[in-house]
Amino acid sequence: MNTTKILLSLYLVLAVILAQFFAAYLFSKSRTNYRKAFSALVLCISFYLFGYLMIINNNNLQEMIFWNQIQYLGLPFISVLWLLVALLYTKTIYSLKTRMALLLFSIPVITFFIRLTNSWHHLFYTKWEMRQYTGYYSLYMERGIWYYINISFTILCLLLTVIIYLMGYLKNKVGYTKPHFFVFLFASLLPFFGIVLILLVYDHWTIDYSALVMPLSLLIISYGILKYDFLEIRTLARETIFENNYVGMVVLGPGNKIIDYNKAAVDFFESINITLNNHPIEHLLQGEPKLLEIFQSERDCDISLQIDGEERFFEIDAVALGSSLDGSTRMLKSIRDVTEERKIQEKLKFLATTDSLSGLNNRAEFMELFKRVFDWAKSSKEDLSLLLLDLDKFKIINDTYGHGAGDEIIREVGRLIKTSFRKTDITGRIGGEEFAVLLRNASLEEGRKVAEKFRETVAKSKVKYEDQEITFTLSIGVVSIQGNTDNIKGIEDIFKMADDALYKAKAKGRNCVEIFRPNT
Ligand code: GH3
Ligand code: MG
Ligand code: MG
Repeated sequence: MNTTKILLSLYLVLAVILAQFFAAYLFSKSRTNYRKAFSALVLCISFYLFGYLMIINNNNLQEMIFWNQIQYLGLPFISVLWLLVALLYTKTIYSLKTRMALLLFSIPVITFFIRLTNSWHHLFYTKWEMRQYTGYYSLYMERGIWYYINISFTILCLLLTVIIYLMGYLKNKVGYTKPHFFVFLFASLLPFFGIVLILLVYDHWTIDYSALVMPLSLLIISYGILKYDFLEIRTLARETIFENNYVGMVVLGPGNKIIDYNKAAVDFFESINITLNNHPIEHLLQGEPKLLEIFQSERDCDISLQIDGEERFFEIDAVALGSSLDGSTRMLKSIRDVTEERKIQEKLKFLATTDSLSGLNNRAEFMELFKRVFDWAKSSKEDLSLLLLDLDKFKIINDTYGHGAGDEIIREVGRLIKTSFRKTDITGRIGGEEFAVLLRNASLEEGRKVAEKFRETVAKSKVKYEDQEITFTLSIGVVSIQGNTDNIKGIEDIFKMADDALYKAKAKGRNCVEIFRPNT
């Protein structure tokens, strides 16, 4: 036996075992598209190497031709898969769409069939021969037209692969991912050189250089995997984030079927007594029509649900994941419990808009609401009446009974205002002992009547403070705008008029209601 042949065979056996191991390892762990493509690539390489191993260990032409055919189960697809891995790994593309698959794989598939049917047309190899090289036989072929088409395509793919990794390497600024690109770049340069060698030493080729360098490429990549773990780490990180996110996530596939979900999603659905599985959501959410509508919609929605007797708020957002081949949409639905945030927001809003002593709207909020109602009234010609209320001789009450007593009275007036007016009326404490009430859909006469009634209510009420019963009164100025708002520029003008009326009431002796009359 010849040493070259023995060494070459040993080398190929080891390479085939390595390749098979790799293909199985990557496939068993393949969750991302580029890993699938990569395991397919390694499998194709192992077919190719195995065929070559069988050829050099043979001395029967027909059997050699058979093993050459076996090589072509993998060979035409190697370069295109190499390119596909590059495209997917560098995220140049995210998944293999039909059009792209046709573009990439049509030539390899044709090559496979042309090689299979070569004996009919001799487009691939024009001549077969068994030749003896330094002690062993190998197959010698003369190349046909399609061989050159295929090899050009192969070179193009490998060239693109090298360019893609080179660009990835140059563009990548993140220090720790840079070596990944370098390893891939280096590993893809090798088969490229192999092919160039085959073409250059065309006439006296004794050894298939591609077969020699391919295992080296695989070794370099395996080194890269062990060293940088680059096929693992990104997926692992993404999966961990998905699985352990406090936001519930559900992936909906074609036909609104639940494809994937994380722990938080399971907890959310369990809290409303739904067990997640891979059924369509129509089926799972039969008893929850509101939730079903949200899950079918492609928009972000909010929902409140009763959970353990408590109302909880959820933000359910939709992220489109593109449409599948049959045109049906795929979505990621995220579910976030925003109850605590809402509570804090509500509390902040309450603190910012409410007067703590009277419990009524504070001045800023009253003005804001007044402005809105005024703008609406202007356009809809709605009647509005504004009541401005001011406690009489409040300074004396403070001086007589103490500031605490004064506060108690302000509290009581707030309570009386809350209970005496309609829900649609807007009320507020707009100053120390000044209040305002905006009556909607109320004429001047109605406003005056309501004010008069309230004045009486206040005059009749008492506040108990440190064993003393304190009575108090207030004066009210009333103004009304009835449809005609042309000469009123803003709410300040209305306030001014109400203030005039209030001033008159005070002048009249207090504890009375006065209406605003122009020019009087
Ligand atoms: P008038 O009938 O003319 O309105 O007399 P008045 O004493 O009510 O008017 P004035 O504007 O002179 O005094 C208002 C008083 O209201 C002075 C201030 O000490 C008192 N006051 C303002 N805010 C508060 C408060 O929050 N609590 C208490 N206890 N008193 C307040
Ligand atoms: Mg005052
Ligand atoms: Mg006063």
